[in-house]
Amino acid sequence: MSCPIQCPPGADPYDGATGNPNRQGGTTLIASRYDLVVIGGGTAGLVSAAGAASLGARVALVERDKLGGDCLHTGCVPTKTLVKSARVASLIDHSEEYGIKTSGYEVNFPAIMDRMVRIVRSAGEHDDPDRIRGLGVDVFLDEARFTSPDEVAVDGRRLTTRNAIIATGSHSTAPPITGLEDIGYLTHVEALRLRRLPRSIVVVGSGPIGCEFAQIFARFGSDVVLISSSPLPLPKEDVEVGEVLKQVLVSDGVTFHGGYKVEEARTEGDEKVLIARNERGETVEARGEEILIAAGRAPTAESLSLENAGVELEKKGLKVDEKLCTTAPNIYAAGDITGKYLFTHVAEYQARAALRNALFPIKTKADHRVVPWTTFTDPEVARVGLTEEQARREHDGQVRVFRQPFSGVDRAVVDGETEGFVKIVTGKRGRILGGHIIGPDAGNLIHEIVLAMQKNIPIGTLSTTIHVYPTLAQANQRTADNYYREKLFTDRNRKILKGFFGLRRRLSRR
Ligand SMILES: Cc1cc2nc3c(=O)[nH]c(=O)nc-3n(C[C@H](O)[C@H](O)[C@H](O)COP(=O)(O)OP(=O)(O)OC[C@H]3O[C@@H](n4cnc5c(N)ncnc54)[C@H](O)[C@@H]3O)c2cc1C
Repeated sequence: MSCPIQCPPGADPYDGATGNPNRQGGTTLIASRYDLVVIGGGTAGLVSAAGAASLGARVALVERDKLGGDCLHTGCVPTKTLVKSARVASLIDHSEEYGIKTSGYEVNFPAIMDRMVRIVRSAGEHDDPDRIRGLGVDVFLDEARFTSPDEVAVDGRRLTTRNAIIATGSHSTAPPITGLEDIGYLTHVEALRLRRLPRSIVVVGSGPIGCEFAQIFARFGSDVVLISSSPLPLPKEDVEVGEVLKQVLVSDGVTFHGGYKVEEARTEGDEKVLIARNERGETVEARGEEILIAAGRAPTAESLSLENAGVELEKKGLKVDEKLCTTAPNIYAAGDITGKYLFTHVAEYQARAALRNALFPIKTKADHRVVPWTTFTDPEVARVGLTEEQARREHDGQVRVFRQPFSGVDRAVVDGETEGFVKIVTGKRGRILGGHIIGPDAGNLIHEIVLAMQKNIPIGTLSTTIHVYPTLAQANQRTADNYYREKLFTDRNRKILKGFFGLRRRLSRR
């Protein structure tokens, strides 16, 4: 066993392990030979490293910035605090519908951002380097790069390792727009550092990040233009969902230009101007104090010296097999760097799978068949499985679609939140192929459909399962009720039953 750094001559700190191999007699001891080195301390890296340590492996975690990664510092957590503040503003805007008269309100943007910082700080306590060291992980706060498949250079040290997990995430990219670099723009990172609310902002890209920010800024009072190369927002979602979301954004005050590609950027006075063109050659000009680019992500791998490890990088992410093994047999990958489903919950799932495969001889495939996600606009948009269009392509002739608008769900009516619907796409014998919800609390509601898909529970079971009244979850049940309605309440069945009841009445009179 190689002697760890700061190890007194002749002593091996791993003898008589205390459960925390990093610490002995109050000194932090760093090993140089590991079972696992994890690069990147975001969700995927933290889950991998903490999991490996809890299994008794000797593990190092290398992070060049702050533990917690994108989700904690510049992604999910801060944006969701803004979503909440924006929702409060919107509720006040509509308070008279609930019988509450307010005498106006003011959006205190610095206070909103301060709240965001406080919440990020508090959520980040779990990811404090000392807490992670306390779990038995050697934490290095510096940039890592491979010198060979089993050696990682960090902070002037060389960590030799049997296995590695790359969890270095992804970052924003900007589309090729003439003049954009000259006029300057925000990504989500800079948008979350603003201290003054922009009077006007042009958001480029209508994926989840673009839509969430567009609605947030509009609800805070900025003039917002959203430019999307696809005709509807959230182009990966079911078309019906995009149609409803477009109406919602417009009613929040967002000007939506769908089907336009931004070609040129320039400044005029203190305004930034974008010129975009659609397929018919028509142009629009959008002006704003700020430009927010939310139009793509790329894998973060530039500093890893992957060539030294024999790890291949493709456009969207590292080349991995179904077991999340890269092209180097001892190196695995997890999270955004795989280019598959850029979500925190997927990063966590993949980290667990990569960790098992890295540490143990029996390798299992990561199962990406049932992956849900949610866009946290208001109303939320949640999805799992195939869209109707995809299902019709892949399961020709077998597909049936069931819908339930929230306007027919008592709880949504009571809450005054009737926008949207649940849509379930089924195949043979009621097997659920996809679920799509745009509506209140969609991100929570989708999980019933997720579990049904994961466990092959047919749609009919959602109908026959008792749901609490009055809850939004009844929207799922009502959608599934339509399956039986379609199956049982046909004209033919009604005729047969009519005959049966008639016959029974006649017989009972005798
Ligand atoms: C604005 C926004 C909102 C989002 N909202 C949601 C949401 O609501 N729900 C959801 O599920 N997902 C959301 N996401 C996506 C989510 O943030 C990511 O999927 C998740 O953070 C990926 O985790 P990761 O561990 O793969 O990567 P990251 O969290 O990016 O972590 C990678 C880490 O690796 C480090 N690193 C990189 N290179 C090196 C190196 N050479 N050496 C050492 N360290 C290195 C980086 O500093 C970083 O800390 C959002 C993303 C954004 C941008």
